[in-house]
Amino acid sequence: MILQTAALSLLLCSVHSFTVQAHFEKSDEYSGNTIEDEDLSASTLIEKANVNVGKNLDEPLVMYGDIAVPTGFQNADPCTRRGCLWRKSRDGNVYVPYRISNQYSRRERDTIVQGLRSFARSTCIRFTPLNRQRDFVDIKSLSGCFSFVGRRGNAQTVSLSRQGCVFRSVIQHELLHALGFNHEQTRSDRDEHVRIVLQNVIPGMEHNFRKINTRNLGTPYDYGSVMHYGRFAFSRNREATIIPIPDRNAVIGRAEKMSPVDILRVNRLYRCNTTNSRPDPERVPMNEFL
Ligand SMILES: [Zn+2]
Repeated sequence: MILQTAALSLLLCSVHSFTVQAHFEKSDEYSGNTIEDEDLSASTLIEKANVNVGKNLDEPLVMYGDIAVPTGFQNADPCTRRGCLWRKSRDGNVYVPYRISNQYSRRERDTIVQGLRSFARSTCIRFTPLNRQRDFVDIKSLSGCFSFVGRRGNAQTVSLSRQGCVFRSVIQHELLHALGFNHEQTRSDRDEHVRIVLQNVIPGMEHNFRKINTRNLGTPYDYGSVMHYGRFAFSRNREATIIPIPDRNAVIGRAEKMSPVDILRVNRLYRCNTTNSRPDPERVPMNEFL
């Protein structure tokens, strides 16, 4: 599939109008994917925006929907044990330098900066403008929404396409990848909480539903995580690909912002200990502890 896509991009990359046409054809192919049309959830927005991902040969290889992987390492294992966390400063905060491409309008840039700042309200993560640090997130508009998992070293691209990725939910989702988090439904214990229906998945897209040996940090599986895909993610037939269990009608993958559990995980992974970074346990809905 990837090779085919690469070959296709070779054919198309020199003639832009062909690429545009291919985009529309691809969009038609995907139009039945998501039942929730007015949906601003990260999952739906990313899937819509990523129909063109992988066609540009100078962009990273993208797997698992929106996770960029270095060529040759196609299994996005959790890397937080191998040193891909961002470093903690003596003051207890974790400063993550960022650069935002000048491709964005002022309004888009403001939205991105607000997304970055949202982490500071509830965690010890502090996204700060690049100031000659070696490692940083390089936010730019490539052909979709995607990010590497964890700190990669040097500049690492977080792609937020101007076509469909500049939304709070998507910005938080991609930055959570950059901080070291995987998709919720790839969690090691996911089979206790969701059933993956591979026969409804677009052929070639099954890898998006692989399970990963994640570090779950003592936190509950969270249907409301901004990292959870929607019920119809990568569906080939408008049938569900992810069914929650035991309550098949539970709402999944509709988060429009980080959930209290997402915030708790950031705080646990980075050992944030400031009092104002602890989410109020009263605000965690009980059904997320199923
Ligand atoms: Zn993702």
